[in-house]
Amino acid sequence: MSSDPNCIFCKIVDGKIPARKIYEDDELIGFHDIAPWAPVHFLLVPKRHIASMAQLTQEDAALMGKIMTLAPSLAVENGCRPYPDGGYRVVVNTGVEGGQEVHHLHVHVMGGPRPWLKG
Ligand code: 5GP
Ligand code: ZN
Repeated sequence: MSSDPNCIFCKIVDGKIPARKIYEDDELIGFHDIAPWAPVHFLLVPKRHIASMAQLTQEDAALMGKIMTLAPSLAVENGCRPYPDGGYRVVVNTGVEGGQEVHHLHVHVMGGPRPWLKG
């Protein structure tokens, strides 16, 4: 299925609900998380409805590679300081016991200034 009418991220992809977009191309979209866990927290989301990382196939390798290679530049453009003093965390929650709440594959990128860390 390429779009699920009941899926919140498909609705964002289709422009039916708003999001603070930071990136878009023909196959993926990036937007700020509505309830950030870090000073910078955005999601990179394939436009096609893929329920989770568990459904990926070899045919998705280029798409996932694009997400992973875009994440560093988008992180810095959106407020993360660069590696090595800055940095960010990249997380893919998968399945209920993996903490996944929205069942449309998404990659979390979280970072930003953490004054309580030394250095
Ligand atoms: P999960 O737990 O599935 O890995 O993460 C889902 C994430 O999506 C959560 O961090 C949550 O705050 C975010 N989220 C859920 N609904 C919306 C929404 O409507 N808009 C945006 N921008 N983020 C959302
Ligand atoms: Zn979806």
